Amino acid sequence: MLESHARILVVEDNEDNMTLIAYLLRAHGFFPELAYSGADGIALALEHRPQLILLDILMPEMDGYEVATRVRGYPELAETRIVAVTASAMVGDRERIVAAGFDGYIQKPIDPERFIGEVQRFLPAERARETAGPRPRPSSATTAPRTAS
Ligand code: MN
Repeated sequence: MLESHARILVVEDNEDNMTLIAYLLRAHGFFPELAYSGADGIALALEHRPQLILLDILMPEMDGYEVATRVRGYPELAETRIVAVTASAMVGDRERIVAAGFDGYIQKPIDPERFIGEVQRFLPAERARETAGPRPRPSSATTAPRTAS
């Protein structure tokens, strides 16, 4: 299995959706942080500085629009990408999603076959490593061949 070092935060109030999203991410080598409310999501974002937040829109007390707007207010989270994970009907509100500072969206219901591919579109390119076996160590064997002098 490939291990990813991308930091992903999932903010989702629905237990079933959270279970599915977390399962899919873990099955593909991610170790997501999980928040079940907007307030917890902001706290975890500030603590972990994720590269990507997968953010539900419809949540009680603080919805995804407000979470995104608040996250965008923190300079230390300027590099964090925010992706709405939301029902098709809400995607009709695309201008509002963009205005709130989202970088894009993934439609619900989640398609398990396509989900990870959609997530990876929003992650910076990285080199995945094998979890089994030793980590590559810097050594003469791994350095680039030198040109003959
Ligand atoms: Mn919800």
